[in-house]
Amino acid sequence: MRVVIRSDVLEGILDAAKRHYPREFFCLLGGHWDGDSAFVDEIVYIPFKNGERSVVFNPYTIPIDGRIIGSAHSHPRASPPSRADRKTFPQTGWVHIIVYPPFDQLSVSAYDAAGRKIPLEVV
Ligand SMILES: [Zn+2]
Repeated sequence: MRVVIRSDVLEGILDAAKRHYPREFFCLLGGHWDGDSAFVDEIVYIPFKNGERSVVFNPYTIPIDGRIIGSAHSHPRASPPSRADRKTFPQTGWVHIIVYPPFDQLSVSAYDAAGRKIPLEVV
């Protein structure tokens, strides 16, 4: 499994994460599958409450939409998925992106729903 994300979509996530810093930012990812590659081409915003160590959202606000394939959120520093992240990942899809300072195109990691790191390609 791998994630392929459009650079303008990643830029949008990085910009939003930068604006929320040091609080965390959260959004869903829209896209489609081709084989085991998840192509991300859309940011899907849902309401969330954020702090410096966590993001909370209501799972009932997740639209029922086959295009939602995962989530993205920010961390205040480069770090792997937290225990809470691993718990919520399966609720929001199959691929998950974490961005962190300095919020450039390299400040990003991708994970599967179990929290295992997977390759990410920016196109
Ligand atoms: Zn997290």
